[in-house]
Amino acid sequence: MIDLCSQESRPLLTIGDALDRIKTAVHPVSDTEKSALKNALGRVLAEPVYSPINIPHDRNAAMDGYAFASCDMADGHAFALSLAGTSWAGRPFQGRMQPGQCIRIFTGAVVPEQADSVIMQEHVQVQDQTIHFPADTRALQNIRKIGEDVKQGACLIATPKKLTAVDLGLLASAGVDQVAVKRQLKIACFSTGDELTALGQPLEPGKIYDSNRAMLGGLLADPGYSIVDFGVIPDDKQLLEDRFIEASKNHDVVITTGGASVGEADYVKEILQSCGEVDFWKIAVKPGKPLAFGKIGSCYFFGLPGNPVAVVVTFQQIVAPALRQLSGAPPAKPLRFTATCTSALKKAAGRQEYQRGILSQDENGEFFVASAGQQGSHILSSMSRSGCYIVLPEECKGVQTGDKVIVEPFSLFI
Ligand code: AMP
Ligand code: MG
Repeated sequence: MIDLCSQESRPLLTIGDALDRIKTAVHPVSDTEKSALKNALGRVLAEPVYSPINIPHDRNAAMDGYAFASCDMADGHAFALSLAGTSWAGRPFQGRMQPGQCIRIFTGAVVPEQADSVIMQEHVQVQDQTIHFPADTRALQNIRKIGEDVKQGACLIATPKKLTAVDLGLLASAGVDQVAVKRQLKIACFSTGDELTALGQPLEPGKIYDSNRAMLGGLLADPGYSIVDFGVIPDDKQLLEDRFIEASKNHDVVITTGGASVGEADYVKEILQSCGEVDFWKIAVKPGKPLAFGKIGSCYFFGLPGNPVAVVVTFQQIVAPALRQLSGAPPAKPLRFTATCTSALKKAAGRQEYQRGILSQDENGEFFVASAGQQGSHILSSMSRSGCYIVLPEECKGVQTGDKVIVEPFSLFI
């Protein structure tokens, strides 16, 4: 890790530089454990999974209809076959289909060996035990082939992969009921500040409720993370230091909010300097300039700003990618695209801004974005109303109504 403490007079780090530093500094956990498939959602797959079977396992019907052999067709004329039995999903036809015969078949049912085609039930006429096929009957249709989805022995899911609901379905379709996953990250959270009041307590003059910890709890909700809430620590240097050191001993990550700036009561950077390794950043983003990143022993430390909107922005843009990397998950790039801005936006050149926007789409599929309102880093209400960031690059000096801007919808990753 590069020590930037002595480099604070240097220009602010761009968000891209900050993410590069994260990439260099963070080493994924290597411990793995077994997980039952039903508990594996959101866990990071540790070993590739190969399919023990062909999927589909049998040749089966893609339609409800009648299975027949194409050699019984009549050269472009209508023809009739006699009904020899039924193949149900899960209960295959037991007999042997003879020339001139067909069988009733349902979606997912095994196609008898002698048949190579299935016709939809809507296309035939049934007269007692005789099935009349039309002249335009097509051969070799509506049969799902063995292994056409996944071949036996083929890689079902490669690593790295954070398992989705669809992955669980795919693994289950191969009969896999247990997977090797990376162990959970152990993450400790603190709020710092003399002004913070726990929920349920009356608000004394000059105090505020602790919104950051509630929010962080939500932002960190992930099956790959195990969170310990260390509550609020007052602005007391010794207390902070003791708690940081204690938490760093048995957690992979410590995340704090508040006290990361350069005010009289902002001790985070100083403590990190004295008991750990510091990479103190001032990042060229708004909101969220001050962010302390470092290590205490082998524990990664993120000292986020105090203002709630800055917490969300720095968490999503910096901490979330770092945690993903640490957990062994592949990087997830936020989806960004262009929209027409329907509000004028104020901005000074210098820092990349994440303004809060409300996204919409017209009947032609074009995207529009409006400002969600006040943009102060303490204004959580506009953040709650918004559905995307309007990402304004460092050099941007404001936006006029009708200008094209880059938007990043919340919680959409590619
Ligand atoms: P600081 O970084 O400690 O100077 O805090 C910056 C601003 O964020 C101040 O207005 C703090 O009161 C506010 N703040 C700090 N921590 C929290 C918190 N946990 N919840 C809500 N606001 C906070
Ligand atoms: Mg403070």
